Amino acid sequence: MTPLHIPTPLLEHRALSAALDKRVLLKMENSQPSGSFKLRGIGLLCQRAVAAGADHLVCPSGGNAGFAAAVAGVALGVRTTILVPQTTSAAVRQKIADIGATVIVHGAVWDETNLEAQRLAGAPGAVYVPPFDHPDIWEGNASMIDEAVAQSRAMDAEFDVVVCSVGGGGLMSGVLQGLHRHGLAKVPLIAVETEGAASLRASMRAGALVSLPAITSLATTLGAKRVAAEAYAWTGRHSVLSVVVSDAQAVAAARRFADDMRVLVEPACGAALAAGYERVDELARFRRPLFIVCGGIGVDLAALAA
Ligand SMILES: *Cc1c(COP(=O)(O)O)cnc(C)c1O
Repeated sequence: MTPLHIPTPLLEHRALSAALDKRVLLKMENSQPSGSFKLRGIGLLCQRAVAAGADHLVCPSGGNAGFAAAVAGVALGVRTTILVPQTTSAAVRQKIADIGATVIVHGAVWDETNLEAQRLAGAPGAVYVPPFDHPDIWEGNASMIDEAVAQSRAMDAEFDVVVCSVGGGGLMSGVLQGLHRHGLAKVPLIAVETEGAASLRASMRAGALVSLPAITSLATTLGAKRVAAEAYAWTGRHSVLSVVVSDAQAVAAARRFADDMRVLVEPACGAALAAGYERVDELARFRRPLFIVCGGIGVDLAALAA
């Protein structure tokens, strides 16, 4: 099966490299056709489901997961329904509809939207597409590490730490799977969340998988009340350093990145970049950090300025 995602560039962030006296590497997942890394994992899940006979994809997400499922559904030529809560803006709904997916507005909060998606996905031929909690999603996301390993070797800049943001932990689980299959189990992961959405940190502190009572960060893309059990389990078998930044730091990092690299990313992605721009202690001992530029479609110049 030809993947639905594309190989993305590995760039060096020269300004930040000079400022930190490190080689700062950027995996440019913002350049995926879906605007975020999500097409890697969700694309693989959808492709496998269709190969197994599914003819209707159902995804509860007004964000990058829904957008990736819509891109996958159109590429695979199957009916695709994206369910969004009433809070999702008309602009986002239009963006998804423009790709060719059906948008259904259901529920005041995501939990209600999700229940309706699961109900629809119970019909024959339909398949439920979750945002982060599925082995196919982790396996698909791991492909970015396959590329990054080869690319960083070719640049003679093998990375010694990976920095990524964490929402539900599907990205993190994929990155770690990728590291382990390349014999890089000793390369630590810096897992960045925003204040008010730090569900991985909460579970690491509690020593058990726990849920946040509510999400209060404006980086809504990172707003999973509870991470996937797989993501929490990884913290027991890999060196995962938890970093939490403020919304203001995440937004400031996204703005500086726009100036530095001429690329717009969501605050969810700015969170990971903030670990570099804010020179967090956890990064100090590493020489060649690899930042996953996860991207995101929920951003424009006006939103970043506000
Ligand atoms: C989904 C997403 C994340 C978080 O990924 P998880 O798998 O939920 O941890 C971060 N940034 C962007 C842009 C995303 O779309």
